[in-house]
Amino acid sequence: MKAQRLLWLALYFLIPTIPIGLIFSSPLAQLDNQLYRLSVVSGALAFVWLVNQLVLSARPKFIEQHFGMDRLYRFHAVMAGVSVVLVLVHRQAKLALTGLTPTYAFPAAALFILAVLFAAIFLIDSGLRRLGFVRSLVNFSREKLGLSFNRVVLFHNITVVASVLMALHVIATSAALVYLPIRIFYWFYFVLGLSFYLYHKFIRPWRLARKAYQIKSVTPELENIRTLKLIPPPNQEVINYQPGQFAFITILGGDVAREEHPFTISSSPAEPDAITFTIKELGDFTANLGAVEPGTPVRVDAPYGVFSYQQHAPDVPLGLIAGGIGITPMLSMLRTLRVTEPDRQVTFLWGVNQPEELFCQDELAAMAAEMPNFVWHPVIAFDETWPGETGFVDRDKIARLMLNGQGGQAEMDFYVCGPQVMMDLVIGHLSDLGVPVGQIRSEKFAL
Ligand SMILES: Cc1cc2nc3c(=O)[nH]c(=O)nc-3n(C[C@H](O)[C@H](O)[C@H](O)COP(=O)(O)OP(=O)(O)OC[C@H]3O[C@@H](n4cnc5c(N)ncnc54)[C@H](O)[C@@H]3O)c2cc1C
Repeated sequence: MKAQRLLWLALYFLIPTIPIGLIFSSPLAQLDNQLYRLSVVSGALAFVWLVNQLVLSARPKFIEQHFGMDRLYRFHAVMAGVSVVLVLVHRQAKLALTGLTPTYAFPAAALFILAVLFAAIFLIDSGLRRLGFVRSLVNFSREKLGLSFNRVVLFHNITVVASVLMALHVIATSAALVYLPIRIFYWFYFVLGLSFYLYHKFIRPWRLARKAYQIKSVTPELENIRTLKLIPPPNQEVINYQPGQFAFITILGGDVAREEHPFTISSSPAEPDAITFTIKELGDFTANLGAVEPGTPVRVDAPYGVFSYQQHAPDVPLGLIAGGIGITPMLSMLRTLRVTEPDRQVTFLWGVNQPEELFCQDELAAMAAEMPNFVWHPVIAFDETWPGETGFVDRDKIARLMLNGQGGQAEMDFYVCGPQVMMDLVIGHLSDLGVPVGQIRSEKFAL
């Protein structure tokens, strides 16, 4: 896995050496001119890395499976920012060199800057929202202007227009104009990146819609939590996935918006006929799921993610810590272990606010009865009368209930999923207790 990651990173960072090498070896190269060298290097890096963003945003599984979606998107966000800075450096160098602003350069750069800024404010947690006025702007746009997450994602597609303008600029005005090998590279690379984007936006959804699953049942677990059970089309098997992985689903009928949303598969791969998603109401999409009828087609794009014990060394004791609906990947893992490795040593802490929120406690109790080395502890935050563990999942509880009162020297792999604040605290406690970073894995319910 590590070797594959290094290989992809090396490819990502080294591909620009091809156009740079080609340009520097072209008959027109002015190698004694510093500004010229700066403009070539910054321009080639910006072009290749911006095209790479088209590839990354298409979330190719053959790359994603080595990093996980959250890492991939974080890398995409950082590298998009870096590439836009390179665009500006290139522009300044070119301006100083020639005194001209070439065709298409200005609108392409302006659109890229707009897209990156917009994403940093509205799409991702870039840290800008810590500024009071940015937070107010985000809240105002959401509440008063109806700027939903999906509209922001839609707007983000202006990066494709920017990419086309960038390609036209590069091909019409750079060394590509006069030197065929460079022209071939730029065309080839741009068409490759654009193909990933077009496949992701049009061909993959069309193919998956032709093999759409069907809603078999919608079961209320609590007033605001439901389990959707999906079955594949006749003569087709359920996708091959690991417990803890997730899917992007789009409901293709009924009164629910046709939006793609990520949800963990809460069933087990050991259950061959159906997959389930256990979903808590948060906004419009999740609130409307109760109205979805059996028989409704659903597009399922999966599997994604690396949050699974099956990605790591076998037989290691497992420490699972969930907060609220963060139980879904744990449920999938436990349901699988119950069938495939009932003797595995597993300790599970599930933090919720009130006892009524323990919606699958009967199933967990049945697992504990069947699996000799499985123990679970509900941790109730706001009920002093609860006979078991109360308060938050804190350092003391982790040490006492999972590490036998010792530090993290014990060999145990930890899996943490829940609200961001809870995950930050728990990961901090685990580190304080001496658990090595490499043994702590987490899944955020936001990309
Ligand atoms: C890997 C992963 C696994 C998840 N697993 C589960 C699960 O098992 N059960 C569960 O209840 N929830 C899960 N979620 C969260 C779930 O995706 C969001 O609660 C849901 O998309 C919210 O949609 P909404 O329109 O109802 O709410 P909104 O109020 O519109 O959105 C709330 C937040 O959800 C996120 N979000 C909204 N729409 C999307 C989208 N289309 N794509 C990505 N993020 C979006 C954004 O961060 C947004 O700020 C998971 C999220 C991720 C990333």
